[in-house]
Amino acid sequence: MSEAVAERFSQLYGTEPDGVWAAPGRVNLIGEHTDYNDGFVMPFALPHTALAAVARRTDGVLRLHSADVGGGVVELRVDDLAPESDRNWTAYPAGVVWALREAGHEITGADIHLSSTVPAGAGLSSSAALEVVVALALDDLYGLGLKRWQLARLCQRAENVYVGAPVGIMDQTASACCEEGHALFLDTRDLSQQQIPFDLAAEGMRLLVVDTQVKHSHSEGEYGKRRAGCEKGAALLGVDALRDIPYDGLDAALERLADDEEVLRLVRHVVTEDERVERMVSLLRAGETRAIGPVLVAGHASLRDDFRVSCPELDLVVDSSLAAGALGARMTGGGFGGSAIVLVEAADADTVSKAVQEAFATAGFTAPRVFEAVPAPGARRIR
Ligand code: ADP
Ligand code: MG
Repeated sequence: MSEAVAERFSQLYGTEPDGVWAAPGRVNLIGEHTDYNDGFVMPFALPHTALAAVARRTDGVLRLHSADVGGGVVELRVDDLAPESDRNWTAYPAGVVWALREAGHEITGADIHLSSTVPAGAGLSSSAALEVVVALALDDLYGLGLKRWQLARLCQRAENVYVGAPVGIMDQTASACCEEGHALFLDTRDLSQQQIPFDLAAEGMRLLVVDTQVKHSHSEGEYGKRRAGCEKGAALLGVDALRDIPYDGLDAALERLADDEEVLRLVRHVVTEDERVERMVSLLRAGETRAIGPVLVAGHASLRDDFRVSCPELDLVVDSSLAAGALGARMTGGGFGGSAIVLVEAADADTVSKAVQEAFATAGFTAPRVFEAVPAPGARRIR
């Protein structure tokens, strides 16, 4: 894989790359819409990765190419990079260069060729994979010595400020910090993290990812509204972030929000979701892996009914898979389309997968893509 990417680089730029790097997409096991509330998340890396073949330059030129979009090499000057000046895919890698330079690192240019197997817009974090692979490559080539969490922060800043998307810190941290065979228990307030062993195969289970292949057009506006609602909730309750409402203080907090049903529901989701992440960690640590099924189901119900970011396709994955014997299921990622995860006994994987496909056909929805997810390594140099 790295060979092909290096070869394509040479065709495009007429020289050998200095190296090839990889950064994965992710699925989030539990902890949805908590990362912009300073809360807990628990993603793991997918085997799907963005690859970058990169060579350093000293003349201030940044050249970008992606194997996955039409069009040729895009040439920019690092001095000209400016937030929200670019509405194309190139904003993601260029934003990383901008964020590194903003942070005081002298990046004098690069030739970059990207190729990714992370499906774009499927809620599996193709954007963070692209950012992190570029950040790691430049960190290596320019000898910056940045820590993984620092790279994640810079990538988030690239996406927030340069691209103009108000995303939390989960996706970038997952891509940069995940380890093979583990889920990442991450505190998004201080980025402290613990690797939780997560080997379903050893216990006779599997985790399926169902990409609904839909992305509802209102998703960005709705995401912004949820964020604003959460901030309003925190302000009404007099805390920095909803993370500061303890689970055993939830009832009292909800009483104070009785006049604002909309905000009350958002707060209830975030506070119960943080509790679900902690419960999931305890269950996995105790080896009670099958017991995480109901936690997934409760998480989905909360996202559907309280946070209201699900959609008919995601609900159908959950309902049809549970009816066919799945141990648990929920939407993953921001919602309004994208993907769901389904926990099954290994022996039931085919039956459940077929049941979901049939339910989609009956409903007249686009056929979903189903694949198994096994926790893969985080970002790394591969050549
Ligand atoms: P997600 O991160 O859930 O996949 P986003 O909307 O955050 O969805 O990011 C998707 C965008 O990232 C695409 O529209 C495109 O601009 C960019 N992108 C992702 N993968 C690639 C790729 N392989 N080549 C070029 N751009 C990509
Ligand atoms: Mg993204």
